[in-house]
Amino acid sequence: MANLYNLKMRSSKKDKHISGAERIIVKENIEEEAIKMIKRALNHSRGEADFINLSVSKVKDEITYLKSLPVSTLISKNYLEGRELIIKVLLFLGFKREKALKMLDILINAPSMRGAILLDINSLERLEPDKNRGIRATGMDYSSENIDIDNLHFREALALSTKVAHAPGIVAEICWSDDPFYTTGYIASKKYGYIRIPNLKPRGDEKGGRLFCFDSKAANLDECVHWIEKKIVLIDELAPNYGVRALEKVVGNHV
Ligand code: AMP
Repeated sequence: MANLYNLKMRSSKKDKHISGAERIIVKENIEEEAIKMIKRALNHSRGEADFINLSVSKVKDEITYLKSLPVSTLISKNYLEGRELIIKVLLFLGFKREKALKMLDILINAPSMRGAILLDINSLERLEPDKNRGIRATGMDYSSENIDIDNLHFREALALSTKVAHAPGIVAEICWSDDPFYTTGYIASKKYGYIRIPNLKPRGDEKGGRLFCFDSKAANLDECVHWIEKKIVLIDELAPNYGVRALEKVVGNHV
């Protein structure tokens, strides 16, 4: 097994979450990456952290290697149009419109959390043991520095969503960032890949959120949570990034 270390950072200001980051790297890179993470916590658009927690632990578990989800971008003029595109993708994933609207409302109305909502798509019940914290996806990164994605938000979100999309019972993930000036979000699924949507919240809004949609009839909850929170996943290959495409094209070309 490769000699790897899991480096994690989370930071806050007056107990408000500022930022978090994670890498799975070789020993020689720990120092450099740790410095980058500290700089990031101290220079964040959500504020300057007054608490930074860094941890380094050697990876002892078996590693799963995955190819990233393919990426497509849809165009929306404003965040309402962006959110309507999310509903449309949910319809293609087999949800009725009324249910899709309820799912999105649960995400919009949830408080700011460090983790994600885990929603049972059958009962629309939230399944996270700790509803304030949510479910935290950890243990994912790229295996090669040569995987070239210069947008950090996107790079991290693609790794997270690729891992989560492969979890038992997960049919979709919806996300937009806490960063007030990063309004691009996505809906990701194994079926249609990672669909970026440039506008999912108003510019300047500090509230982001994540929703993992779980089919309780298809998989065991504990196995799903274990995969998301504990499994070590490295992405060793990038699937194509198709750029801007019409929705019909995205859902026509199944992954
Ligand atoms: P971010 O894209 O980092 O701004 O995060 C957007 C939202 O996703 C946050 O408000 C959290 O609710 C959630 N989130 C952030 N990191 C994780 C994670 N590792 N696992 C699950 N949910 C997360």
